[in-house]
Amino acid sequence: MQISRPRGTSDILPEEARRWRKLENVIHELCRLYGYGEIRTPIFETTDLFLRGVGEATDIVEKEMYTFKSKGKRANSLTLRPEGTAPVARAYLENGLYALPQPVKLYYIGPMFRYDRPQAGRYRQFHQFGAEIFGADDPAADAEVIALAMTFFKKLGLKGLELHLNSVGCPECRPVMREKLVEYFNLRIQECCQDCRNRLVKNPLRILDCKEDSCREIRRGAPSPVDCLCTECGAHFEHLRRYLDLLNIPYHLNPRLVRGLDYYTKTAFEIIIPGAGAQDAVGGGGRYDGLVQEIGGRSVPGVGFALGLERTLLLMLDGAGEVATAPGPEVFVVTAGETRDTATRLVADLRAAGLVADRDYTGRSLKAQMKYAGKLGARYVVIVGEDELRGGRVALKDMEAGRQTEVYLEEMVDFLRRAVGK
Ligand code: AMP
Repeated sequence: MQISRPRGTSDILPEEARRWRKLENVIHELCRLYGYGEIRTPIFETTDLFLRGVGEATDIVEKEMYTFKSKGKRANSLTLRPEGTAPVARAYLENGLYALPQPVKLYYIGPMFRYDRPQAGRYRQFHQFGAEIFGADDPAADAEVIALAMTFFKKLGLKGLELHLNSVGCPECRPVMREKLVEYFNLRIQECCQDCRNRLVKNPLRILDCKEDSCREIRRGAPSPVDCLCTECGAHFEHLRRYLDLLNIPYHLNPRLVRGLDYYTKTAFEIIIPGAGAQDAVGGGGRYDGLVQEIGGRSVPGVGFALGLERTLLLMLDGAGEVATAPGPEVFVVTAGETRDTATRLVADLRAAGLVADRDYTGRSLKAQMKYAGKLGARYVVIVGEDELRGGRVALKDMEAGRQTEVYLEEMVDFLRRAVGK
């Protein structure tokens, strides 16, 4: 029986990989411009990191983690990372990055894992580009990460994305929010879904972003988090909005946008594809001033985002951002007769000289090798024939012009380098 890849995963084949590479190049270049250093953390972490750093009352932790027991005598519980912020915060602490001049600005690209029902735009292994700033509570830092995310989409030629913005306050104003929400939903909870009934006890703020139709209807008249902000959070939000205006970044105020846990503070944002249905978010982020402390560190403010790369690529497929097809080899070496040894050396010499060179490995006839070189889109073909070789020469065919000449073996590499402009 043939073995298939696990559900919700994908193989990225060469043509597709070129589109990924383009995306990644834009990310690296943009992050360089904005002054972010790349960080690569492990694919799996101690489960506790996510219990604390994502939160036990979240869908990710409750339903979606790939958790397994390690091996050995002191085997602990490990989890394939479902997101990147908690691992980056852990790495910031563990490597003492708080001792560097602050803020520390980091970015990552990599696979994340969530057990969820796969569908278009939702997978069990997917990739995120994330950026984080540690050690800055200035709302200008929030504006910078938002600008970085929006510029990324702009550079890819993606238009029509909407920035949704909210503030969820801090541990000081959160109790006021909770109280008002509990008061409102207590009267209506019988009409809400089962998840929201649980949320009312554990995490009432999250009722606000429930996707169930019945709950959407009920929350229409619910109190808005922004109306409950304390003076400091209110001012922070005002300043952020002013910076976004200064940067010409339009946004929609969205009081339903929440991150329900205590260490998510102040700014919350999402980048939405209007009309895309259930999987309408390409990215999201916000401030997490309590996170570093939550995972065992000192109090360090932080703000960042994570963008979904599969969803970004799906948008690129819908129009903008086409990538040219892969060019063929610059030189294809063909053998005629017993000249395989020379051909092997020639291909190596060409590659060493920086030329994109290839050859046949399946024992094709001369005619079939020529045909194959044509299919690959080779620019030049070197034909190594027994007779020519005795005279120290090889035949060289310009595939574009259809002309064939002979060159001396020792001059061939230089000749071809000049011909392809290298
Ligand atoms: P989150 O960490 O849940 O805020 O997700 C940030 C972004 O990652 C989302 O806006 C999506 O673009 C992407 N994303 C999250 N979960 C998935 C998934 N299961 N499959 C594909 N992309 C996802």
